[in-house]
Amino acid sequence: MRTFKRILLVAGCLLLVAQIPFAVNRYRTARLATEIEELGKDRGPVPRLGFRDYKGVIHVHSFIGGHSTGTFEELIGAANQNGLDFVVMTEHVANDFDSAAKTLNERHGRAIWIGGNEVPTSDGDKFLVLDGFSDLSTLQFNSTDELLGETEGKRKLALVTYPESFRSWDADFDGIEVFSLHTNAKAMNPFLFLMDAVWSFGSYPELTMARHFRRPAENLDRFDKISGTRKISLFGGNDAHSNIGFHLFGDDANNKLFEIKYDRYGMIFRLMRTHVLIPENEELSRVTVLEALRRGRSFLGFDILGDSSGFTFHAENAEGARLVGTDSDVDAGSVLRVASPLPAKIVIFRNGDRVFESESVRSVEFKAREPGVYRVEAFLDSLGAPFDEMPWVITNPIYVGNPPALSAGVPKPTNQN
Ligand SMILES: [Zn+2]
Repeated sequence: MRTFKRILLVAGCLLLVAQIPFAVNRYRTARLATEIEELGKDRGPVPRLGFRDYKGVIHVHSFIGGHSTGTFEELIGAANQNGLDFVVMTEHVANDFDSAAKTLNERHGRAIWIGGNEVPTSDGDKFLVLDGFSDLSTLQFNSTDELLGETEGKRKLALVTYPESFRSWDADFDGIEVFSLHTNAKAMNPFLFLMDAVWSFGSYPELTMARHFRRPAENLDRFDKISGTRKISLFGGNDAHSNIGFHLFGDDANNKLFEIKYDRYGMIFRLMRTHVLIPENEELSRVTVLEALRRGRSFLGFDILGDSSGFTFHAENAEGARLVGTDSDVDAGSVLRVASPLPAKIVIFRNGDRVFESESVRSVEFKAREPGVYRVEAFLDSLGAPFDEMPWVITNPIYVGNPPALSAGVPKPTNQN
């Protein structure tokens, strides 16, 4: 009996000691929340370049397309709460009805809603198609090339989703989801996340998750390789289902004693946003949001660390300012400018290589002497690890000198795997 008590005592002590790192994390997360609040007070002005920044989210599911329990009420409430300007729904295709037409469309609350689809192909690839169309579900049994032929004919956007399991890298798609909240959440160590969650999730749900984020290096490398041969766009997918989580006691219906649902819409919409840039003389609408996404006139902001609205990366030449995107061609020797609403470390990449890195600043001027594809990542170094390596902003590129052609009819990269 004495031995048993001793074992129990030792086990109890070990359990207590094992909690120390997670208690420390709780302290760090609380400090991070304070630092973010302080940083937010330090917002500075950014230049207006004839465009307005609208924030929204891409890749959202509801009960309409299955694999999700989320209702329209929850979605609209979460979008309003977040002050979102647009939400791109990407319902799974249904065999018997048009799930893109049946989901939220038009304006509800503050936001414009755009019904699109997530479609698999017989090659094992998955695409987000924006916006949806009535016979799209029949294409899910076709090859990737056949699907892309249809979407191009209808002037729809076909964006690669789940790049980690995508195969047809030589196909003629329009963009890549370089960061997915869903994939990132699934990649977290479940034990470490659960222990962190026990200590921190109740008070800081978003930051508890954000501290487990990692820069999507592989996807960015792939984007850099392909954008060097033809023009494509990058974007971030929230992949919100409102169905991932766990509870320790109780049943599925209710009476949960300790429940964590770590992809509630409100929370997922707060973590990361896509910002689109729309000309000031045009209204925010389904058409203008889709056009901005088509042209890659957008950037990805991890806004939980600080509102990235107003961040700009543009080129200046004799004709004036050229924003990021597929029509941003400028001559070699043009000046590239970055302006940030918050002080940030600015890194400029050329064809995937770091060619410039600043201290914590609000603006950068860089002469792009060499032709190439230039894009920017901004880091809030002052928030400490992991945010010195996990970007706050990732922009689409500017094409400098002899840019690659847009989309079809050009040599495509091979062996991207
Ligand atoms: Zn999805």
